[in-house]
Amino acid sequence: MRIKLENLEGGRGDFAHVYQPEELNPVDERVSLTEPATVSGRIRLSGNEVFVEGHVETRAQTECDRCLKPVQLPVNADFALEYITGADYESSSAAALSEEELSVSVFDGESIDVDEIVKEQILLEVPARTLCQEDCKGICPECGIDLNTGQCDCAAREIDPRWAALKGFKKTDK
Ligand SMILES: [Zn+2]
Ligand SMILES: [Zn+2]
Repeated sequence: MRIKLENLEGGRGDFAHVYQPEELNPVDERVSLTEPATVSGRIRLSGNEVFVEGHVETRAQTECDRCLKPVQLPVNADFALEYITGADYESSSAAALSEEELSVSVFDGESIDVDEIVKEQILLEVPARTLCQEDCKGICPECGIDLNTGQCDCAAREIDPRWAALKGFKKTDK
């Protein structure tokens, strides 16, 4: 959904939309939606600036960093964004300010892409590292078994001979 500024009456307006998961999926390579996403908000023009504020609500799915099992996370985000046109950004960057320092986004001067806002808010809510449980044991790198639900003796086979050799060496050294 894009909001065209020329369609705003009196330079302001409300918006609301329910996205079906497939409209936004994949949000990025590790995040997708399992439920519809609801967005609602307000947009306001002020001179060359556009202010957009609102709320996004959905459930996102990502995978456990260690065992790759799907992990679902609630998304409940309030946002307040400011946009300026590329030309205005150019003139302000002459003052050596980065986009981040200005805490504004650049847009084309014609419309605001709400899809992008919603995706961005979802990604901000999903931590870079997600675990299915705090002490997830992960997957055995040797045999691929899920160590949360099963056991293997790969680690024992790998380490025991070396430890044995090391212990033996120390003993004979003394
Ligand atoms: Zn896990
Ligand atoms: Zn194993």
